[in-house]
Amino acid sequence: MKDEIHPDYQNCKVHCGCGNTFLTRSTKAEIHVEICGACHPFYTGKQKFVDTAGRIQRFQEKFKWTGDAAQRKAADKGPKKKVAAPAPSAEQ
Ligand SMILES: [Zn+2]
Repeated sequence: MKDEIHPDYQNCKVHCGCGNTFLTRSTKAEIHVEICGACHPFYTGKQKFVDTAGRIQRFQEKFKWTGDAAQRKAADKGPKKKVAAPAPSAEQ
């Protein structure tokens, strides 16, 4: 290796957003990540939304979407009550 041109390859502590930490080697002393092998859905087998910018919440607010929206939609397809038009001479 040539002198004075290579960055310092040192022990590195990785901090994940889930609270997990582990050691590896890097040119940086510390790395902060959003997802790791302990919390990634591929390894946990659980469904999880990785939402770093609040995009899912914005979507849900915009379209009023909740988990049971499909059920409510099915309920809405039931018989509708017709709103009777007010009688023209009711208050006179
Ligand atoms: Zn993690």
